[in-house]
Amino acid sequence: MNDVLRELVGMSRYLGDPSHPYAILGEGNTSARVDEDTFYVKASGTTLANIAEGDFLPVSISRVTAILDDPNAGDADVARVLREALVDRDETRKPSVETMLHALLLRYPEYRFIGHTHPEATNALLCSVRAAEAVAGRLCPDHIVVMGHKSVFVPYVDPGLVLAREVRSRVEQFIDEEGVLPKCILLQNHGLIALGDKPAAVTGVTDMAEKMSRVLLGAYAAGGPRFMSAEDVERIHTRPDEHYRQKQLANR
Ligand SMILES: [Zn+2]
Repeated sequence: MNDVLRELVGMSRYLGDPSHPYAILGEGNTSARVDEDTFYVKASGTTLANIAEGDFLPVSISRVTAILDDPNAGDADVARVLREALVDRDETRKPSVETMLHALLLRYPEYRFIGHTHPEATNALLCSVRAAEAVAGRLCPDHIVVMGHKSVFVPYVDPGLVLAREVRSRVEQFIDEEGVLPKCILLQNHGLIALGDKPAAVTGVTDMAEKMSRVLLGAYAAGGPRFMSAEDVERIHTRPDEHYRQKQLANR
């Protein structure tokens, strides 16, 4: 087994481990890029907790993402494109329904691993009337160090092609406005996407998102969260010693 696939299996099992309330049954999907145009993505219907190397399918990024720009594409086209994008033409299984989402994000060279899950506390917030407000702020320095100074929030849209297009435009807007790539995308009434160049970055963002969501739920119960000020967030975000901590965490 190659290194990328071995790392992807380890990351996926961690995210699906029953000791973490991140994904049950067939929930969630993971991916990793192997070269400029090829990535492994979880096969549809598999379970993260006990996933194996053979449960990941190699897919062409360019063949998947071409459909995003076709305004007339419908469900039948999505099914055809996902089948045709498989590197192994004899493969009979289907890649995850969110393959388009993974492919468009893996076009950014800075991302190599992606973990999408439905964590309990995070979804408690994302399924609440306060979703947008809850994910907009930062609560403490470690929140910023691990998850970045800001996350991308995506209001609920139909999963699959529509969601992929919406994520693409919101990530592009985030990069334009913030000048950095996001580490975390939060999908209203759905779940979390953690992005990184290593499995430790993806699991770290997922762990921290879930911890901060539990803290937020407590803060709402105690009268409402007190988010850090924009100045304090910026100060942590740009401090050299915080960049050092980020590097140390990423190299775990
Ligand atoms: Zn999902």
